[in-house]
Amino acid sequence: MSIPTQQFVSDNYAGVCPEAWAAMERANHGSAPAYGDDEWTRRASDAFRDLFEAKCEVFFVFNGTAANALALSALSQSYHSVICSSSAHVETDECGAPEFFSNGAKLLVVQTPDGKLSPEGIRAIASSRSDIHFPKPRVVTITQPSETGQVYKVDEVQAISAICRELGLRLHMDGARFAHACAHLGVSPADATWRAGVDVLCFGGTKNGLAVGEAVIFFDPAMAEDFDYRCKQAGQLASKMRFLSAPWLGLFESGAWLRNAQHANACATRLASRIKAIPGVTLKFPVEANTVFLGASPPVLEALRNRGWRFYTFIGGGARFVFGWDADVRNVDRLADDIAACAAAA
Ligand SMILES: *Cc1c(COP(=O)(O)O)cnc(C)c1O
Repeated sequence: MSIPTQQFVSDNYAGVCPEAWAAMERANHGSAPAYGDDEWTRRASDAFRDLFEAKCEVFFVFNGTAANALALSALSQSYHSVICSSSAHVETDECGAPEFFSNGAKLLVVQTPDGKLSPEGIRAIASSRSDIHFPKPRVVTITQPSETGQVYKVDEVQAISAICRELGLRLHMDGARFAHACAHLGVSPADATWRAGVDVLCFGGTKNGLAVGEAVIFFDPAMAEDFDYRCKQAGQLASKMRFLSAPWLGLFESGAWLRNAQHANACATRLASRIKAIPGVTLKFPVEANTVFLGASPPVLEALRNRGWRFYTFIGGGARFVFGWDADVRNVDRLADDIAACAAAA
C-alpha cells in the first residue's frame, strides 16, 4: 500500500494547464501597458464576446470570492437582499464578502438539499414580506453547477429568470465551474447564460486550469457602470493585467476551456460508475459535473484516510472528491479500488 500521488480534495489542487501556461509565456515578452490597457486584455475580452456571441462587458479579477462579492454589490444597494441557496458559496464560504462589499445587503437563504434554487422557493422568500422593515429583494444568485455538483438545465435557468423579471430581481450566476456546466449540458455559453436570462456571470478560470483569475461578465453593459472603480477599490485591479487576461486566450483559442472540463467531468463519472454498486457505499448526489460525494460509514472513511486519501466532509457528511483538468485516470481507478477495499473490510 503506497501513498496516493495525486489527491482529489479540490480542483484547485491542480497546477496550470499547458495552454494557459503557454499563453502566459507568450505574454511575457517586453513591456506592455498596465492596468488592462494592453493588447492581451483587449484580445481576451474580445474572445469572451466571441464565445458568448454578445457585446458583454468583461472584467478580470483574482478570485471567485471577489468576483461574486463585487458583482452582487454592483447589482444591489445596501438596503437590498440577495436570494441564494443555503449551501451557496456566497453564503457559506466567502466570509461575508458579499455583505461587506455591498455595504450590508443581506443574503436571504432558501433551504435546498442540492444547492439548486427553484422558482417556487424564490417566489416564496421574495414575497414573504413587502414592508419597509425588511431588506428589499433585488438579486437572485445561482451556482452553476451547484456546490453539490448539480447542473441547472437551460429551461430551469429560464424559469428562474422568468420569475426574476416578474418580481423585479436581477439574476447572477456563480460560475466557478461554469465550463463544467457547459460540458455537461452540451450547450453554448450563450444559451446557458444571457439567452436564458442571466444578467451577470462570474466565470471561473482557476478551477478550469488557470493559475489565478475569474472573469466577471455583464451581459447588460448598463449594469457594469463604474465596475472598474469597484474592482480598483477592492484591490482587484491587476496592474500587470496581461497575466490575468492572456491565459484566458490560451484556454479559448485552444478549446482547452471545454476539454479540461469534459475531462474533469468524465473522471467524476468514472469514479461514480466504479463505486455505485459497492455494498456499504452510496452516492449522496447525482454526478453531473466534476464532483463526487461518497456516502460511507465513519470506519470506511477512516480507512480511506489511512490509505492516504484526503477529502472534505463538510457538505452532507459524505466524502467529497473533485477532479481537475489534470486528474490522471489511473489515480481515479486507484481511488475506486481503495474505496472498494475499505468498504469490503468494514
Ligand atoms: C471555488 C468557488 C468559488 C471561488 O472561490 P475563491 O477561493 O474565492 O476563488 C466561488 N464559488 C464556488 C461555487 C466555488 O466552488
